[in-house]
Amino acid sequence: MLKYQGKGVYGAVAVGKISVFKRQDVQVRREKTEDTASELKRLENAKAAAIEQLQEIYEKALREVGEANAAIFEIHMMMVEDEDYNDAITEMITTQNVNAEYAVAITGDNFAEMFSAMDDAYMQARSADVKDISNRIISCLTNCGSAETQSDEPVIICADDLAPSETVTLDKDKVLAFVTAHGSSNSHTAILARNMNIPAIIGVGETFLSEISDGDTAVVNGFTGEFIVHPDEQTINNAEKKREEEQEKKALLQKLKGKENITLDGRKINIYANIGSVDNIGAVLLNDAGGIGLFRSEFLYLENTDYPSEDEQFRIYKRVLESMAGKKVIIRTLDIGADKQCDYFHMPKEENPALGIRAIRLCLNRPEVFRTQLRALFRASVFGNLGIMFPMIANVWELKEILALCNEVKAELRKDGIEYAEDTELGIMIETPAAALISDRLAPMVDFFSVGTNDLTQYTLACDRQNPAIDRFCDVHHEAILRLIEMAAENAHKHGKWIGICGELAADTSLTETFLRMGIDELSVSPAFVLKVRNAVRNIDLRCVFQQLPDQV
Ligand code: PEP
Ligand code: MG
Repeated sequence: MLKYQGKGVYGAVAVGKISVFKRQDVQVRREKTEDTASELKRLENAKAAAIEQLQEIYEKALREVGEANAAIFEIHMMMVEDEDYNDAITEMITTQNVNAEYAVAITGDNFAEMFSAMDDAYMQARSADVKDISNRIISCLTNCGSAETQSDEPVIICADDLAPSETVTLDKDKVLAFVTAHGSSNSHTAILARNMNIPAIIGVGETFLSEISDGDTAVVNGFTGEFIVHPDEQTINNAEKKREEEQEKKALLQKLKGKENITLDGRKINIYANIGSVDNIGAVLLNDAGGIGLFRSEFLYLENTDYPSEDEQFRIYKRVLESMAGKKVIIRTLDIGADKQCDYFHMPKEENPALGIRAIRLCLNRPEVFRTQLRALFRASVFGNLGIMFPMIANVWELKEILALCNEVKAELRKDGIEYAEDTELGIMIETPAAALISDRLAPMVDFFSVGTNDLTQYTLACDRQNPAIDRFCDVHHEAILRLIEMAAENAHKHGKWIGICGELAADTSLTETFLRMGIDELSVSPAFVLKVRNAVRNIDLRCVFQQLPDQV
């Protein structure tokens, strides 16, 4: 047996034969470019070529299959010219300084995912069309044909990496799983794999492709990230059993789409999703999240080589809000520092960066940076249902300064004749023990709390969240953490404010009942966990007196 360890990006198991992905030199990669004007020109030329191809196909289809069947190619031509689609591509090229292929691939993916998440079956079917046209534009941009797999049987696709256009051109009925040498959890292969419910492992390492061959039997475990080639009989039997069990569970969860997050005794709760980029919105919609409970805006800064301008930020926030069509979107202001370092901030080296100038401390020390973000956020607020959330609060005075700055920014916008939504909710993260302990004083000043259990755990238990060596001492179910959350919930409600949880603990279904009993109003989790948490909520009966508590140390 050959064993590889990668990162499972979609929890499912597959057993089957390997097909090594053959590419005709088409690889859509994100490339930085300063010359955005020439990327836009390339895009225009590629679109013109795509329209020409589609016109030819339309005419052929008209001759061979009749007008009704050919009409789809007219729709494709219209989609190539669609204003929203083109604005999104152009915006991506100009604001993110990326190559046209990448902008088309990503935009195509986003639109496809958004379409497939819609209720209307006709709109859902447009998802395949938008993929198709994006693929066509990409191949016009690169002047290359599409990629191939050789098998008629469903196979495990093994590749160095897969571009969205390549992933979508594969016949999904013939794909058992994806395994790639490279990629990140937020790569589009990963997103597509998750959305297509296909087991996937990324980052198994450079060498694996030279050690496997077409037709080798393999087991893909998307839960553990384990990829086993030439498995023995016992390994195959175990994997088959796990696969059957998981398929049953997932089929049940899919049935929960469109259903309420309501307990057996009628208590309702919001289940939102956490994201770090606009690219994740498709997954949010596809998993039927009720809103976005945490948009980690710092990724916008981390992906850039310089401070993102007010306009750049405004366009991105606006796009998130518009994509969510009136559903709640909570954008957290910049949380740079500690493990998230950004070169161009030129921050002095600190002995203990997790206890240093991070998040709101940085923003209050650098009001010009903070003010730019606040202006962008308030300007975007009229395009949807925005909440703005401030991280790492530990003092009342910090919140006073923040609120004063918000008022100044709003006054400036009014003076400039720029609209903003006066009812934009302002909230804080409860992620320091201090914030939980003074939550009675903080609650009257804000509209909501959201508990960041990742940092609350780190700061309460004095356990560096970056240090795997102290895992044993870092009990995320620690009574101290639960008591702090309960205290914050009580104080929020005493002042008529709502409280959510957006740290990883929100997805821990062994605690869902505990959180509901504390009165938590919202749980915000990774998109892939929305239905799992909904399922947990729907099986809880708060009238039962005996509650099964997770193990306490
Ligand atoms: C948290 O601390 O729980 C949180 C949600 O924020 P982050 O993980 O981004 O620090
Ligand atoms: Mg945090």
